[in-house]
Amino acid sequence: MTSAIELENVVKEYLSHGEVVQAVKGVSLDIAEGEFFSLLGPSGCGKTTTMRMIAGFEAPTKGLVKLHGQDVTNVPPNKRDVNMVFQSYALFPHMSVWDNVAFGLKQRKTPQEEIKRRVGEMLEIVDLTGREKRRPREMSGGQQQRVALARALVNRPRALLLDEPLGALDLKLRQAMQIELKRIQREVGITFVYVTHDQNEALTMSDRIAVMNDGLVEQLAGPREIYERPATAFVAGFIGTSNLLAGTATAGELKIAGGRVLVPGQEGDVTVTVRPEKITIGTDEPVNGVSSVRGTVAEVVYLGTYNSYAVSLADGAEVTVFQQNAHDATATAERGDSVWLSWQAQHSYVIGS
Ligand code: ATP
Repeated sequence: MTSAIELENVVKEYLSHGEVVQAVKGVSLDIAEGEFFSLLGPSGCGKTTTMRMIAGFEAPTKGLVKLHGQDVTNVPPNKRDVNMVFQSYALFPHMSVWDNVAFGLKQRKTPQEEIKRRVGEMLEIVDLTGREKRRPREMSGGQQQRVALARALVNRPRALLLDEPLGALDLKLRQAMQIELKRIQREVGITFVYVTHDQNEALTMSDRIAVMNDGLVEQLAGPREIYERPATAFVAGFIGTSNLLAGTATAGELKIAGGRVLVPGQEGDVTVTVRPEKITIGTDEPVNGVSSVRGTVAEVVYLGTYNSYAVSLADGAEVTVFQQNAHDATATAERGDSVWLSWQAQHSYVIGS
């Protein structure tokens, strides 16, 4: 695996009103050539700052930035073989689509024939062939974003950095563009580093995701691993909906109010996460060999393809359960019903603090 981008213990401090603010507190990453890599986290967690250090717009206070094996920590942005796409497309409004995309190549005095070929190819990849003469304002947000993408890719950078590029689009278009972006990335084979606070976006597109919180990477793994095996309570809560159950385990069993959670091989204090869709809701006491707990339905929300239940346990804790609406859409339980929840032992995932 060739590394496209490496960060070694990168720290970024800002001086704000006479106080030192640590935006990034020691991040190490190793992004492979051709990878679709996302930096995901809530507002203020340091993802944009991390990306700006890769681009060279910010210098790290400590640590090293390497591109394709070379230390570029002190190399200016225009000398790094990376390009960046922003949420505001930053297109030239008075220029046609063709001229917007050709701009960088013209500036580098690329021969006419080559410009024609490369711009043509790129417009085909982003599916804008036939719209060469349009001006940006005559196009939809999604189309403008594709022009911006074509313009950033036409110079064939070795890596493309994208900072919330779909943030301005409505949900439907954003979802369509996510699939589109992934296809384009696969087609051009360039390393993409994608900044987003939208977990669905990151899960949909990424080969790997670094989940950031408060200036640090809490987990770095593929989408499935991050969802199924969150490393920390923060990751479990930030990605999808999760139930956290904590207590002291004895002989592989965690006693909770009104039930028990099977945690094979665990002793002492543990916290487990259980995803809502792994839990079955019913009125009969479950058979042995599964985790089970009694509760009262506090709320049922109909969500089309599934129902969401909020179930209160005896100690006041609440457990969320998603149940697929299969053939009929009648709810399994109503508000106020006394129910049993159960799930297989392998669906309780033990996490760190
Ligand atoms: P968002 O999604 O809101 O852009 P983010 O995860 O990208 O958030 P950053 O923009 O990297 O977060 O900011 C991380 C922290 O560093 C924040 O607390 C922010 O206020 C602070 N910060 C960023 N840039 C500066 C700056 N130039 N001067 C002072 N503090 C800054």
